[in-house]
Amino acid sequence: MQAVADNLSRGCDILKQEFALVADEPMARHTSFKVGGTADLFATPSSQDELIPIVARAKALKVPVTLMGCGTNLLVRDKGIRGLVLSMKRINAAPTLTRVSGTESLVTASSGVILSTLARFAMDHGLDGFGFAAGIPGTVGGAVMMNAGTAMGTICDTLATLEILCQDGEVRTVDRRELGFSHRKLSFNGLGPGVLILTASFLLVQGDKTAMKAKWLAHLEKRRANQPGSAASAGCFFKNPDNERPAGLLIDRAGLKGRRCGNAMVSEAHGNFIVNLGGATASEILTLKRMVETEVKNQFNVDLKPEVKIEGE
Ligand SMILES: Cc1cc2nc3c(=O)[nH]c(=O)nc-3n(C[C@H](O)[C@H](O)[C@H](O)COP(=O)(O)OP(=O)(O)OC[C@H]3O[C@@H](n4cnc5c(N)ncnc54)[C@H](O)[C@@H]3O)c2cc1C
Repeated sequence: MQAVADNLSRGCDILKQEFALVADEPMARHTSFKVGGTADLFATPSSQDELIPIVARAKALKVPVTLMGCGTNLLVRDKGIRGLVLSMKRINAAPTLTRVSGTESLVTASSGVILSTLARFAMDHGLDGFGFAAGIPGTVGGAVMMNAGTAMGTICDTLATLEILCQDGEVRTVDRRELGFSHRKLSFNGLGPGVLILTASFLLVQGDKTAMKAKWLAHLEKRRANQPGSAASAGCFFKNPDNERPAGLLIDRAGLKGRRCGNAMVSEAHGNFIVNLGGATASEILTLKRMVETEVKNQFNVDLKPEVKIEGE
C-alpha cells in the first residue's frame, strides 16, 4: 500500500516538473457543484500537441488520469482525486464547416468547445440539429461522453465521427456505427476504457434559421421556469428510470423537494436537482443522494441510478 502511494507521489513529482503542472488544485473551483477536494495534479492543455505527451508520460509513470471538460456533470469527493486531472476545456479552436451536399454539412468541433457555442455556430449557418442543447452547459467532449440531451433529442442523433486518443497512444477516427449510445452514456465498444475524445463531427441538415432561433429561445425560457436558476448543481442528479416516470417526478411525489442534508438540498424548483446552498460538502450531497434513493425505493420500488459522475476519494 505504502509502495503504491510512494510510486504515485514520485510519478506526480516527475510529471509536475516536466510539464510545469499545478499541484493540489481544489476541484471545487472546477465543478459546477462547487465542491470537492484537491487533485494531486491539474492540467489544462491548450492544444493536442500539448495534451498527447502529458497523457503518454502519465501512462508511462502509472499516474492515473481523470478526464473532464467543464465539470458540469461531476461530483468530486471531499478528499479529492489522486493522480492527474486533465481538463479539455482550453482545447477549443473554432468549429469548422464542410459542405457535403446541397442540404447537408459536416461541422467539426474540438472537445473543449462549449456546446452552446457549437450550437450557435450551427444555427448561424442555418444548420439544424442542436436545438436540444439549449441551456445544457459544458463542452462538446463532455456532452458526447454523457450522450447529453433533452426531450428534444440527444447529441448522438447527428454525431458522424469522433477523433479519439486511445490508451495505446494512437489517434483514431471512429465512425458512429462503432459506438454504442444509451441514456446519458457512450460506449466505445472494445476500444477500451480511458479513451479521450479529441474532436467530434456532426452531420447537419439545412433548416429555417429564424424558426431554429425562436425554438432555442423558447426552450431556454421553459428551462428557466422549471430549473433552479443559478444555484450550484450538476443538473439532473439521477438518470430517468424510464420515460413514463422521470426521476424528478418520483422524487417530487416522494415528498423530497426541499429535503436537506447540511447545505445540500433537493431543489424546490426541480426534484432531480440537488443544489449546493453554499459551503456544502460532497459527503453531504452523497448522504442526501442515499436518502433520496432509499425513499424512492421504499415508495415506488424503483432503483435510481446517478447520472452525475462521482469521482475521487
Ligand atoms: C444547470 C445544469 C443543467 C444541465 N442540463 C442538462 C441537460 O438538460 N441534459 C444533459 O444531458 N445534461 C445536463 N447537464 C449535465 C452536463 O451539463 C452535461 O452532462 C454536459 O454535457 C457535461 O459536459 P462537461 O464538459 O461539463 O463534462 P464534465 O462534467 O467535465 O465530464 C462529464 C464526463 O465526461 C467525461 N469527459 C469530458 N470530456 C471528455 C473528453 N474530451 N474525452 C473523454 N471523456 C470526457 C468526463 O470524464 C466525465 O466522465 C446539466 C448540468 C447543469 C449544471
